[in-house]
Amino acid sequence: MRLLTFCLILGGVFTGTVLSSHPTQHAFARSITPRDFRVYVRPTPSYGRAAMRPQVPQIQAGLQSLPRHLWSSLEHIWLMGQPSDTRARASSRQMILYLREFTSGPELQRVITHELAHVIDGGWLVGQGPLDTDFHDLGAGVRHGDPSLDFYRLCWVNDTQRKPECGRHAFVSGYAQHSPYEDFAETLTAYRWEGRAFRRRAVTDPLLRAKYHWLRQTVFNGQEYDTGTPTVLDHTVWDVTQLGT
Ligand SMILES: [Zn+2]
Repeated sequence: MRLLTFCLILGGVFTGTVLSSHPTQHAFARSITPRDFRVYVRPTPSYGRAAMRPQVPQIQAGLQSLPRHLWSSLEHIWLMGQPSDTRARASSRQMILYLREFTSGPELQRVITHELAHVIDGGWLVGQGPLDTDFHDLGAGVRHGDPSLDFYRLCWVNDTQRKPECGRHAFVSGYAQHSPYEDFAETLTAYRWEGRAFRRRAVTDPLLRAKYHWLRQTVFNGQEYDTGTPTVLDHTVWDVTQLGT
C-alpha cells in the first residue's frame, strides 16, 4: 500500500491515513468518534473525482444526519462512478453509493440516511436469541430479542406478508410497503427529514403513531426533528428520499 492524497476531497471532516492497494482503487480512512470506518473511491473516466467533489458536502451531511453511535457497525463506504440501476446499497457493515445516479444534493443526503437506517437495523439493533423468527433480512435471519422485531410486527407477518390492517395509510411511502426492512428505512428517513409531516399524519393514524413512537423511544432516545413540510408526506409518495429536492 502507498500513501495518496485523495482524502482531501472530503475536506476538514475526513482526515487520516490514505491507503491504496490498487491503481484504480483509492482508499482513505479517517475516524469519526467512536470508531473508524473507511471510504473507498472508484472513479470512472466519465465520472471521476472532479464530478464527485461537489457531492462531498452532501455525503458529510448525510453521514452526520444520524448519531454516530447508532451506525457504529459500518466499516466501509464505497463511492462509485460507474452507472447503476440502483442509487445505493447497504448492509450492517458497508454502504455503496453510485454517485452519478443522484440528481440533487438533498436526495443524496436522504439516501445516505436511508442506507444508514439499514446499517442501524442490521448492526445496532440486534438480538442474541435463536434464529427461528419469521424474518430473514438479507437472508441472514433476524434473531429473537432483536428490538426491530417489534417495529416489523406492527405491519408485517413475515418478510413479505403485510398484516390486513396495514393498508397504504399505515406507511410513510410506497417503497415502505415493499418489505419490513424498507418500511424501517423509509420510516426512519421520514422521522429524520419529514418530522413535521410524520407527526401530523400520526395524529390520525394509530399505526403510524406507533411507528413514530417506537423510533423516538428505541432509536432516537426522545429526540425529535422539526424538518420538512407538514403537508408533503402521504401514501402517494413513492420514496421519502426524493422529497425536498
Ligand atoms: Zn433500502
